[in-house]
Amino acid sequence: MMSQADRWRAIAATLANRGFTEQQGASPEFRGSINVHGRAIDIELVVPDSKFVELPIVRLVDRKQLPTGVFGHLSRDDIEGSVVCFAPATGLPLDFHDPGGSVLRVLRQTELSLEKSFAGQGGAEVATEYQEYWITKEPHFRVLVSWDGTSERQPGLQYAVFKPATGSPFFAIADTISLHDHEATRLSGAVVFHFDAELGPTADRVVPNSFLSLEQWFRGQTAVVADRWSECERALLSGKFVCLAANNCTLGVTVELPANIAVAVRAKKLRSSKLQPLLAKQKTKLDIKRSGGYWTGLAEIAQRNLHGIKTLDGKAIALVGCGTLGSHLAKFLIQSGAGASAPLTLIDGQLLSAGNIGRHYLGHSRIGEAKASALAEELKSFHPQCDIRATVGDALAQKTVLADVNLLVDATGDWNTQYALNELFYEDGIWTDAILHCWISGNGAAVQAFLNVRGDECCFRCLRPSMDAGPRFPALKPGVEANMAPATCGDGNYIPYSVAAPATAAGLACDMAIGWANDKPGARLRTIVLDHERGIVRKPTSPSAHKSCPSCLARDRS
Ligand SMILES: [Zn+2]
Repeated sequence: MMSQADRWRAIAATLANRGFTEQQGASPEFRGSINVHGRAIDIELVVPDSKFVELPIVRLVDRKQLPTGVFGHLSRDDIEGSVVCFAPATGLPLDFHDPGGSVLRVLRQTELSLEKSFAGQGGAEVATEYQEYWITKEPHFRVLVSWDGTSERQPGLQYAVFKPATGSPFFAIADTISLHDHEATRLSGAVVFHFDAELGPTADRVVPNSFLSLEQWFRGQTAVVADRWSECERALLSGKFVCLAANNCTLGVTVELPANIAVAVRAKKLRSSKLQPLLAKQKTKLDIKRSGGYWTGLAEIAQRNLHGIKTLDGKAIALVGCGTLGSHLAKFLIQSGAGASAPLTLIDGQLLSAGNIGRHYLGHSRIGEAKASALAEELKSFHPQCDIRATVGDALAQKTVLADVNLLVDATGDWNTQYALNELFYEDGIWTDAILHCWISGNGAAVQAFLNVRGDECCFRCLRPSMDAGPRFPALKPGVEANMAPATCGDGNYIPYSVAAPATAAGLACDMAIGWANDKPGARLRTIVLDHERGIVRKPTSPSAHKSCPSCLARDRS
């Protein structure tokens, strides 16, 4: 095994061989040149760690050896500076068993990334990373309004500091300053400009530093952006926070108020209508503050991960059963867009018991509370924009709640309730588009989910027309008990198995709900086996209706 001293010797020898000389420095530091685009470029190579956990640093000795336009691969932490970003986006594995070869790789990568800039890719790199160049020490802001462009025309947007009941305060643009469980301090009004274009550096500057250079920068952008300068100027001069939402970045900019004006505004001695002419007169002297924004609205966080397909946004969903399966599923549905612009309703009459929390989404602090309302509360703290409602009680008594949701999800895992919900789905006055049943078999050996879209032939009861004969598509091998006897440990219905089963069932149901929302419901019955000694691996299938299904027969007769 190579010692640390061996590694340093190998690094020094390899670099000496390449004509590098060692410099005095806190970390071993070498100076030499690399070859970029047919010319020698002087660099400093700092190697802080012979095991490369901390990456070597490459610095240009003389920035002027490269043309001005070539800056795409200079580090974002050091805009005007000279640190070269040599590691590709996929990362650069360096082998400390071959320290000499590794430093040569760093030199080669540095040449390659600078070479790319010469090939005209520097500009593209800056465009995609532009937000990183734009941001300063100003705090990032979150955008809690819709990305689809409707916020463009939305009046009354607010820029505020929000302090959640637990967690750190943050700056955000929102359509209200009353977010669930947040204290807010309003800072100013806000305007969002949406551009179907990219924002980037202009010929003479990477980023603007004053109000005047902002105007020049703005006018140097593509026409769809440049044309809107006067609107943007008006907003800025009336003291508003301006968010520039482009295809490659989300930028924030405000005017830095001169001290005397800032005092008057804070003391509310200056009306905003008076602010604009006052600031307009001092335009040439105004400074600006730049910051970077992130879209964290509930609809957007779902869309980001379901890129190119529909989320559950806009679908009214009722989830019956907030036990272990339902609790995880509720969170997954929220993360997939449920509750963003249509409500997610949770229905369960039970209280959370001590025995539940080994598998439930809710924890120790919620023992003894109603599962439905405690879960709703918990999910609102996950995201303050959730429209999530709780009904504590028997689902079958909630016909008005269930009547016109788009999707009814049955996560009760209880045969009798499952059959009753199957019947309810077909009752007069129930307009629900689809019902999704999901359950766990054999103490967590397997999970299954069945989707019944209005108009389908096979109903849930078709899966097990005769109670005595067992299910048509069992998830368990013959002889395996569906559920072992409950443990006699004081918790009446407690059956031991790990959280893996309800979380897997929740994942399966969530995936099927997303498929349904995209009009691609796919195979209606799906099975996932966790314990292969007891479970049966089944291909996804869309079962036919069963001729002796009592539920279907009863409907045919009526
Ligand atoms: Zn049936």
